[in-house]
Amino acid sequence: MNEILVTRTSMPEYDEYIELIKSLWESHWVTNMGNFHNELEMKLKNYLGVPELSLMVNGHMALEMGIQALELPYGGEVITTPFTFVSTTHAIVRNGLIPVFCDIKTDDYTIDETKIESLITDKTVAIVAVHVYGNVCNVDKIQEIANRHNLKVIYDAAHAFGVKYKNVGIGNYGDISIFSFHATKVYNTIEGGAVTFNSDKIYDKLYNLKNFGIRNEELIVDVGANAKMNEFAAAMGLCNLKYVDKNIQLRKKLVKHYIERLCNIKGLVLLDYHNDDIEHNYAYFPILLQDNEMRNMLYEKLKCEKIYSRKYFYPLTSDIDCYKNKVSMCELKNARYVSDRILVLPLYPDLGESQVDRICQSISRILSN
Ligand SMILES: *Cc1c(COP(=O)(O)O)cnc(C)c1O
Repeated sequence: MNEILVTRTSMPEYDEYIELIKSLWESHWVTNMGNFHNELEMKLKNYLGVPELSLMVNGHMALEMGIQALELPYGGEVITTPFTFVSTTHAIVRNGLIPVFCDIKTDDYTIDETKIESLITDKTVAIVAVHVYGNVCNVDKIQEIANRHNLKVIYDAAHAFGVKYKNVGIGNYGDISIFSFHATKVYNTIEGGAVTFNSDKIYDKLYNLKNFGIRNEELIVDVGANAKMNEFAAAMGLCNLKYVDKNIQLRKKLVKHYIERLCNIKGLVLLDYHNDDIEHNYAYFPILLQDNEMRNMLYEKLKCEKIYSRKYFYPLTSDIDCYKNKVSMCELKNARYVSDRILVLPLYPDLGESQVDRICQSISRILSN
């Protein structure tokens, strides 16, 4: 039996990419806001339906610099979710801010907005929420809370490329949103990312942060770092952008196929896609098992059959050594419940329906034994 990995990088036709990057051998302009970089910034702004966008070298630096661009007071508290990739929490801490972990909801695994206000103190400066698996946070309620308490809102939309809420691109909510274009994401530039926002002041600030603060040969205006996207990555992004809609449709078909085959298995909880306000991107296919033992057993047994799933996200970021017992949090009952039981199954556009059949048959057999 062939192995089935949890994800597989989407790539354009080889010739298409090679044809596009030929011009780089003529210009020798391979980075520093070249033509491909600028064209991709424009095209992504259009695709995501956002007023402003700044490309970055990766999603993590997009988040770090996005937070930095908001100029929050050092040592301020940031209410956030522990059910995410470590990048989210690291980006808060690396900005000199203090994460305060809030519980999540058990239906879509996003931050539980009803528990945010009880965590607000006079030190709270922002909320960093995650559209986890492309599921949309309760953006309306979160904005209401932020307005009431004068907080900034940052969305980690690393999973949510192409997602729309009430027909509006997901990058329009909050003060800033960030996207990841890592090889494993729905849309990739090999490595890459972007910050979206609605003020040209933030565009200039981010430009400085990602380019050493250099405006011209003799003018350096800020203490910037280096987080520019290079031309090879941007060219990959231009090619991949042509296929992203088709790829999302393929993902959607596979998710439907999964659901039809798994919905009647006892003890399995699947995501509910019935929300007319949300246009999904089908980034991941998470399933929830009855208990931790069952999850771990299924993970191991699938692995023996060369089917590689992922405990995504386990552990919670609040439980990893650098944060455990060092930061405050409310009771994370739901986050622990989900993190102990979650398993993400293989999903990528060129996964075959017959491979989904094989995965589902294995799950069915393993769970009935
Ligand atoms: C992938 C990811 C990131 C980081 O993006 P990179 O492009 O890998 O740096 C941040 N947050 C979440 C939720 C992610 O899944």
